[in-house]
Amino acid sequence: MERKHTLSQELFRRAEQVLPGGVNSPVRSGRSVGVTPFFVKSAAGCRLEDEDGNVYIDYVGSWGPLIAGHAHPEVVEAVRQAATRGTSYGIPCRLEVEMAEKVVSMVPSMDMVRMVNSGTEATMSAIRLARGYTGRPKLIKFDGCYHGHSDCLLVKGGSGLLTLGIPGSPGVPDEIVSHTVSLPYNDLDAVETAFRKMGDQIACVIVEPVAGNMGTVPPAPGFLEGLRRLCDTHGALLIFDEVITGFRLAPGGAQQRFGVLPDLTCLGKIIGGGLPVGAYGGRRKIMEHIAPTGNVYQAGTLSGNPLAMAAGLAMLNILSRPGVYETLEERAAYLEAGLARAAEEAGVPVTLNRVGSMGCAFFNGEPVRDFQSALQSNTEAYGIYFREMLARGVYLAPSQFECFFVGLAHDREALDETIAAAGEALQVVKN
Ligand code: PLP
Repeated sequence: MERKHTLSQELFRRAEQVLPGGVNSPVRSGRSVGVTPFFVKSAAGCRLEDEDGNVYIDYVGSWGPLIAGHAHPEVVEAVRQAATRGTSYGIPCRLEVEMAEKVVSMVPSMDMVRMVNSGTEATMSAIRLARGYTGRPKLIKFDGCYHGHSDCLLVKGGSGLLTLGIPGSPGVPDEIVSHTVSLPYNDLDAVETAFRKMGDQIACVIVEPVAGNMGTVPPAPGFLEGLRRLCDTHGALLIFDEVITGFRLAPGGAQQRFGVLPDLTCLGKIIGGGLPVGAYGGRRKIMEHIAPTGNVYQAGTLSGNPLAMAAGLAMLNILSRPGVYETLEERAAYLEAGLARAAEEAGVPVTLNRVGSMGCAFFNGEPVRDFQSALQSNTEAYGIYFREMLARGVYLAPSQFECFFVGLAHDREALDETIAAAGEALQVVKN
């Protein structure tokens, strides 16, 4: 069926006049896959409806947080009720305590948590804390991992930087990134060498325990354990950026799934149930270095916002129910098997990386285990695949270097529709 995009195109023309690139976050522009964005009118469950009335099965889920689906009735009701009691106080409220108790009960390495307003704030603040705690300046990150857009982390980042081919960013002074060491993901030898050379300078290693911003790249066996060992040996803090993996890969995130505990954990969008939230937390003796108990300063007018706490609590309560992670695993495995079959039937070389309910189809047929191998994917083929899927009512990430996310609202009907669409789309890729 021919889809009309008249109203979305009109909105995009207006948006371009008043928003840089017509968007509030770069990847949304659709540039790397050769489309202009559609504008969402509403969303429910696993489906989005655009302004022109087209409906799509959504595998982006607001870039990860909507594990329970769009407009989940319990989340909506929690927000509605909270809103009737006021939208922001700037004074402590009960929901903040309940949320913090819930988060520390779920994340194995956390005794205390500080709520912030985005993943960027969470990682930026965790790094400040690691530097303040250790009294050291340097940080190690990994090529192709994305930790938000704070200055010191905009080095060889994934996500939008990778999608748009931006290596770093003007506006970030060299002196600031001179303390950032970016190494190949899954390369423990490189980390060992860096520690040998400058171990007494390194405050922390920050890593996505499963990389989700260069597509999906799982940690090689022993990689996370090796990081833990090296940080312990050299007195550096290990930070897991679980903005994507937290509450997605297990109730306690990747650290629970892989059995490696970091010193600090960064959390994001998922704990807001779709509202703007982030958090960082860890052991009490580290967290007590944050003001007002300690002297590492970090603050936020809207931090612990009651609407966000209400939505987040509702979300975490849903995710705490028995069988949730088994369901996610089973549905994502079903999708993966269907996509693999479709690729084989079409004769298109595709590498499917999947961990739990996050995954990615790379168009190269070779193993993808780091930034360099992710870059070998044929992004033109991904662009065709994206557009053909969109034309068939399936919305994937508008970039090769992002994940597809399966949620509780993706029922068998939606998954079968997706697999059928992929079969046809991959035939077009082949030709
Ligand atoms: N860390 C990771 C792993 C992310 O994927 C993202 C965003 O996608 C961030 C940090 C930044 O989060 P935010 O966009 O909420 O600032």
